[in-house]
Amino acid sequence: MPATTNNSDVNKEDYYFMRQALKVAETALDFGEVPVGCVVVLREAPEASNQQQQQQHQHNNVVKDDEEEEEEAKYRLSSSVIVSHGSNQVNATRDATRHAECVAIDRMLTRGLSTDQLRLPSQHLSANNNNKNWEDSWINVQSNANHWKNTYGWKSNGTSRIYSNDIFSKCDLYVTCEPCIMCAAALAKVGIRRVIYGCNNERFGGCGSILNIHQQEKDKGYPVVSGILKEDAIRLLRSFYDRENCYAPNDKRKQKPTNNNNNNDSISSGKDDCISRTKKSKASNC
Ligand SMILES: [Zn+2]
Repeated sequence: MPATTNNSDVNKEDYYFMRQALKVAETALDFGEVPVGCVVVLREAPEASNQQQQQQHQHNNVVKDDEEEEEEAKYRLSSSVIVSHGSNQVNATRDATRHAECVAIDRMLTRGLSTDQLRLPSQHLSANNNNKNWEDSWINVQSNANHWKNTYGWKSNGTSRIYSNDIFSKCDLYVTCEPCIMCAAALAKVGIRRVIYGCNNERFGGCGSILNIHQQEKDKGYPVVSGILKEDAIRLLRSFYDRENCYAPNDKRKQKPTNNNNNNDSISSGKDDCISRTKKSKASNC
């Protein structure tokens, strides 16, 4: 079955989930990782139908002038649930294959054991100075521990579920940057249902930029949607690369990529972002 690319199917829910992926990417930035983040969303979760009716009353009382609150309320009522997330852990693990997508896949299949608890240094498993760690307990419904969505997803207390391999055929992946060739192939192998990404990955992209991996696997291709909140994804990446340039010795500094083709879908550089980001994080040597 050939995979197709169709951006006309994008809806408000897609933007909500991409915003969650961006939050994951921001966490990666705080740990000094290339800020790419993703969430895996299970569609038509079995528990959804019973709970939706019970919560309809609450939803009707939601104040409509807060868009984020409204989106959150809709998410609570929907039959879609975030079952995993991932951000780059390449630097922390010193493993070049620990890209966001692979981390998210491993979490689903191993309760996080193959990534976090075995691979990460202990300081990354507890809260850092910003009270952040790589747990995903925040990502479902924080305010109510008994909410049905909180029974899904990896949690460090061991209450999460173990999924069978075919779960991926019911899941969409939202990732802030186009999957690289390695991750695009991994997503094809597990049989992901759909991939939605933000900015293009002009150097390593496996979903259109360099190769069309999503269309090459004969039986496990997947449709791709691109460009969702791409400006936010690029802004985060700029922050990282500019910060790296600031900290590196003069002779080790990476060359900033030149942007000769005016392609706003991919990564470029910006000193202003560096300055504002650095001031925000109270770094002093930029
Ligand atoms: Zn990758």
